[in-house]
Amino acid sequence: MEVKTFKGGAHVPHYKSYTENKPITRLSLPQEVIIPLLQCLGEPCEPLVKAGDKVKIGQKIGDSKEFFSAPVHASISGIVKAIEKRTVPSGGEDDCIVILADDGPQEFEMKQVRDPENVDLEIYRKCVREGGLVGMGGAALPTHIQTKHDDGVNTLLLNGAECEPFLTCDHRLMLEKTEALVKGAELKMKSIGAQRTLFGVEVNKPDAIKAINELIKDREDMEVVPLAVKYPQGFKSHLIKAATGRDVPRGARSAQLGCIVRNVGTTVAALEAYVYDKPMIERIVTVSGPKVARPGNYLVRIGTPASHILKECGMEEIENHKLVLGGPMTGLAQPHLEVPIVKCTTGVIILPPEMTREWMDYTDCVRCGKCVDHCPMMLYPNQISIWAEKDMYDEAEKGDLMDCIECGICSYICPAARPIVHWVQRAKPEIKKRQRSRK
Ligand code: SF4
Ligand code: SF4
Repeated sequence: MEVKTFKGGAHVPHYKSYTENKPITRLSLPQEVIIPLLQCLGEPCEPLVKAGDKVKIGQKIGDSKEFFSAPVHASISGIVKAIEKRTVPSGGEDDCIVILADDGPQEFEMKQVRDPENVDLEIYRKCVREGGLVGMGGAALPTHIQTKHDDGVNTLLLNGAECEPFLTCDHRLMLEKTEALVKGAELKMKSIGAQRTLFGVEVNKPDAIKAINELIKDREDMEVVPLAVKYPQGFKSHLIKAATGRDVPRGARSAQLGCIVRNVGTTVAALEAYVYDKPMIERIVTVSGPKVARPGNYLVRIGTPASHILKECGMEEIENHKLVLGGPMTGLAQPHLEVPIVKCTTGVIILPPEMTREWMDYTDCVRCGKCVDHCPMMLYPNQISIWAEKDMYDEAEKGDLMDCIECGICSYICPAARPIVHWVQRAKPEIKKRQRSRK
């Protein structure tokens, strides 16, 4: 078996054994969900409901006229308790619709309304948009912006690398929903005009590779590309390089290289949006950490507070541990447990002190150069982070801060424990705002 990869990156501990053999299980229903009006890399929604309104599961409750946006839906049936600022996983507070469960139907009816064999592409694109789909691997780009046919695109590259420590939700999805994944890939290929699908999967998931291979063994238009276990193998440009051999120049769109990259979870969600009219109201989340009593891969309603998830997993108090939503490399540590999971939340990870680097303990850069040596984007993380920390946005932009893929290797490897990614993330919206006003 030929194993492909990219140059650079780092080998980080996996910690996947806590959950990699745990089948997907539905989590109990929370009494309250918190639905942020902004859950994508784009513009926030306007609420379509008000406090006191009764809502049904799957009902659209927020939308925007902007193209770069995705609507949000009620993930439970209930009463709108409030529309107010709440803590969100991306940091700080944002407008959220809070819903209290009532005795209405709480299961989405998976009734087939369309045949995936006879796809109507216009309806497919509408379903993806109206279903509020976003990239579920963490990027949260609205999915509908990449459903149009593009003459230059010949390859659909499905991202099943899941290179971050602890996370196993994509692994279990590839193993347990293989048929839906392949069907979803067929729909997506038709939608973008691609002639082939490559499934990029790290070789630490041999059962998933086997399951996909068995299903596509008679097809010439689909192939599994086994990938080396290395971080950040699942990042778009590195995945494209490893799977297709094509270099992705800085700032280039993957479509310009004939390739569209899609997370495996989003691919299944898009199939369900078309076949069942199912909006994005739930997702698989890995709940893990050395002290979690019942770690696993859980099907969780969007908006469920982390406190409910942890209680169900046998951990009501986290004491001196840290709650991270997402993977430990790219996810964000949360200030408290009443923060909801959103469409792109891959994991609820509880890290003990020995696995975390307390931001307050960082020191000045000691100029060791390790971050420069390991940065997969060939940046100078030491320098751009100093500019970002000091709000020197023009200098940071000229230093290519916007090319940072937020992989977290620099912060992980830094002997001074500098929170480089945190500063980069803080600077990006401001630089984007300046770029927009210049245009
Ligand atoms: S600067 Fe960005 S791309 Fe480079 S190592 Fe740090 S997080 Fe990764
Ligand atoms: S790894 Fe940390 S200490 Fe070393 S050069 Fe980079 S920022 Fe400075």
